[in-house]
Amino acid sequence: MKEIILAYQGEMALKGLNRGTFESVLLKTMRRRLKALGEFKVYKAQSTMYAEPMDDGADVDKAFDYISKIFGIATLTRAAVCEKDMDAIRRTAVEYLREQLAQAKTFKVSARRSDKSFPMDSMQISRELGGTILRAFPHLKVDVHHPDVQVSVEIRDYAAYVHGGKQQGAGGLPVSTSGAAMLMLSGGIDSPVAGYLMAKRGLSLSCAHFASPPYTSERAKMKVLTLARELTPYTGNLNVYVVPYTDVQTELRDRAPSDLFTVLMRRSMLRITEQLAQKEGAKAIVTGESLAQVASQTLMALGCTDAAQMLPVLRPCIGMDKTEITEIARKIGTFETSIQPYEDCCTIFTPPHPKTKPELEEILRAEQQVERLAELERIAAENAECVRVNVGE
Ligand code: ATP
Ligand code: MG
Repeated sequence: MKEIILAYQGEMALKGLNRGTFESVLLKTMRRRLKALGEFKVYKAQSTMYAEPMDDGADVDKAFDYISKIFGIATLTRAAVCEKDMDAIRRTAVEYLREQLAQAKTFKVSARRSDKSFPMDSMQISRELGGTILRAFPHLKVDVHHPDVQVSVEIRDYAAYVHGGKQQGAGGLPVSTSGAAMLMLSGGIDSPVAGYLMAKRGLSLSCAHFASPPYTSERAKMKVLTLARELTPYTGNLNVYVVPYTDVQTELRDRAPSDLFTVLMRRSMLRITEQLAQKEGAKAIVTGESLAQVASQTLMALGCTDAAQMLPVLRPCIGMDKTEITEIARKIGTFETSIQPYEDCCTIFTPPHPKTKPELEEILRAEQQVERLAELERIAAENAECVRVNVGE
């Protein structure tokens, strides 16, 4: 029996946004992600994406898992392909869903007929197939509201497809259809979640990570690259810029008032990220900040940080509690890596009493005292090492 993966679109079809572009991005993404899994034919018909295995080596289990993480796909299912013939449909449904139906107590049939030349309408198909299933599995009952198994038949242009119900996909919009942004990726819990959330809204991402050796270790950097790798099933391949930040940071420590150190550092990180954004053609910066989580995330501190450069700063975690952020981190699989205890440049040299309500004027004055700041920032941006992190490596 031939099995195929069907993926259905969500929001992009509903909103009537630029549908053609969205669909072609989605097809390209699917092709790219499935490349390593054997030969698949990926195509679109009637707003549904098909991934059809073309030889025995094609890994359908893995393909299904990969496709379930591609943004822009609202629901998906594995389905058996059969002839557009009622007897073939009956046989296929009983055989393909045997295990599921044997274990279930209740079921329901739903039929969709987009090929109107098929001689029966969807009501008739459902009734016929329901009867067949009741005869083959006499222990089953029909439950139209909460069935254990939803037996589904779709009569489409090329064939009929039989499956046991759709599963939720990753949702959102296809990556890159909303443009590009720089994700400031630390080793913490929040920033990978922020990256995931913005990729879900259709942004393609590159990452900036600030490292201050010898205060931060090689292992801290490896941890961040692992986090980036864990994001790639959602974001696609990532460029991660590792910024040598020690000189900027020690200069700020030595020359600026210590209670303003954290905000000054955050401003300088954003300016460097802005320079990297130019290289990557990115039009926004994404961070994992959450209001009032730490001293640098008070309203006043965020205001001062925003004023450091021109790009919009997107903070998808801003209104979330740590528990909510953690829940997403677990779901997407970054949590276990994030809690490994390595130092981050943001937590070295932190003053004992950071100002929680800094005024922009005093910040600008303090910055002027650090004469070489702009120069050191430019050098840091220029010397950033670009590490390419690919899906599935
Ligand atoms: P996270 O859990 O993501 O580390 P956090 O709650 O620890 O966040 P901060 O350390 O204040 O908060 O950092 C706030 C945000 O600044 C992070 O979410 C991240 O986007 C960015 N950031 C912090 N440290 C770094 C770093 N070393 N490199 C790049 N970005 C960083
Ligand atoms: Mg952090």
